[in-house]
Amino acid sequence: MSRSLPRIIPWQGDTPQACHPFFYPYETEKISWPETAGGHSEVVVVGAGLSGLTAAYFLRHRDLMVLEAGEQVGGVCQSGNYRGVPYPAGSAYFYYPWEASWQEWHRELGLELDEALIAPPMSALFHEGRWHPNCFSEAGIRSLPVPRAGVDGLLKLAEDLINLENVWDLGIDTLPLPELDQVSLAHYLEVERGLPREVTMLLAPYCRSCLGAGPEAISAWAGLFFLMSEFSSGTRAVAFPEGNARLAQALSQALPNPPRCRHTLVGLRPRGEGVDLLVWNGAAPGFYRWEAGAVILAVGKFLARRLLTPDWGWRWEDFQLFRYSSYVVAALCGQITLEAPGYENWITKAAEISDFILAPRVPGKGPRVMVAFAPQPYPQGRKPLLQAQAEYQGRNLLAALEDHFPGIAAEVEEVRLYRFGHAQVLPYPGFLTFLRGRFPRKQGRIILAHSDLEGLPCIEAAIVQGQKAARRALAVLDQR
Ligand SMILES: Cc1cc2nc3c(=O)[nH]c(=O)nc-3n(C[C@H](O)[C@H](O)[C@H](O)COP(=O)(O)OP(=O)(O)OC[C@H]3O[C@@H](n4cnc5c(N)ncnc54)[C@H](O)[C@@H]3O)c2cc1C
Repeated sequence: MSRSLPRIIPWQGDTPQACHPFFYPYETEKISWPETAGGHSEVVVVGAGLSGLTAAYFLRHRDLMVLEAGEQVGGVCQSGNYRGVPYPAGSAYFYYPWEASWQEWHRELGLELDEALIAPPMSALFHEGRWHPNCFSEAGIRSLPVPRAGVDGLLKLAEDLINLENVWDLGIDTLPLPELDQVSLAHYLEVERGLPREVTMLLAPYCRSCLGAGPEAISAWAGLFFLMSEFSSGTRAVAFPEGNARLAQALSQALPNPPRCRHTLVGLRPRGEGVDLLVWNGAAPGFYRWEAGAVILAVGKFLARRLLTPDWGWRWEDFQLFRYSSYVVAALCGQITLEAPGYENWITKAAEISDFILAPRVPGKGPRVMVAFAPQPYPQGRKPLLQAQAEYQGRNLLAALEDHFPGIAAEVEEVRLYRFGHAQVLPYPGFLTFLRGRFPRKQGRIILAHSDLEGLPCIEAAIVQGQKAARRALAVLDQR
């Protein structure tokens, strides 16, 4: 009996439709501003990703409005549900905060971190048909299929990184170990530490998925900073069934007024002691003008550069130094019987897929969802996402998984595709040095946020940026 092919549900994810007509190319210049303002807020936050929502949370006692171009809040923290099974459709997990104040902040938001701790092993590596569970632990490293020198070198690297944990933190304005930002991770591992090429190859899926490009294209600083948490035996990670969308929802619900979804900022101009915003309301199609005492732009710099003309004080050349990878996430829904040892399962030698997560199977309990991550490296990644047929993309991903796990395609009933066009900022060699040294976060009453200002694609970077932006906004509003 022939089995019918799974349904491919095309593109969810970000909403290029909301922005492209206005910004690509520069259509905003042709739009006329309404004379009468629709209203006024002390502060407007643009973008309801984690950075914008965090900024809004810390400004929730002020007169505040949040604009979001997408249909829902969360940015790349999205979720889905297949016949009662929730799953992350983008950002999935985060590290258990070791600082008491961060733990308290999560509690304040009603997030029970201890209940969502990931059971070990956190990571497993699938290489040439064989699983290597707990691949970042000491025992896991000893089992890796690399020459002896590679195992010894990797163990030494892990030990060195663990010793650096106390001095190497996120959010500080100086760059510890700046020399590590001048070379690629591949160069550092192979030339400076003499590790065999096989080690770099094993780390490639991790780098593509977490940092937006392979070890040749990301800075050693960024790669090692991420790996430090993986190697540390004290690290614990947290994952809610619907991923980091839980955090976005909690932040959004803590605001006095819900963010205005499908409201896209398309223009900004100075106005006396404040700022004028031109907003496209996609829900009741039309433009309106809004007045604000200060504006937090919690959107990627690929977009901010189109809103901030040189008279705001930012330099176009600086914006061009921000590079982004793209991403496809595929939720494979059905009667999946595959078992995988880790929460995050890395696959080597698979160009289409880097890793997947799969909730444990509950005996006799209906369908499961396997979330497969398919990063699209800079710079080729974005165009195919706009041009390629979802059907083609879905079948390709399924075929790639079938190559590694024969039989899986027949168990899938539905493939849901999510795309993120400018998903993650790319920390290429030299970028973090540029960011820390030169790029201004605030000019007048415009304050920038977004994880890309930290130079690293992770939720902690978004949260840190949101906190900093809120502090800057309060200083502007209270003229401190
Ligand atoms: C597929 C994927 C998986 C990931 N997994 C993890 C993970 O497991 N753990 C982790 O720590 N990190 C992960 N990350 C990275 C992390 O989730 C992100 O770095 C972080 O969530 C980004 O938050 P942000 O607020 O900076 O940006 P975004 O999420 O990009 O938010 C920006 C928001 O601004 C809105 N916007 C844009 N233009 C306008 C406009 N003109 N007007 C109004 N609104 C606008 C957008 O619609 C969007 O909602 C992942 C990233 C991706 C892409």
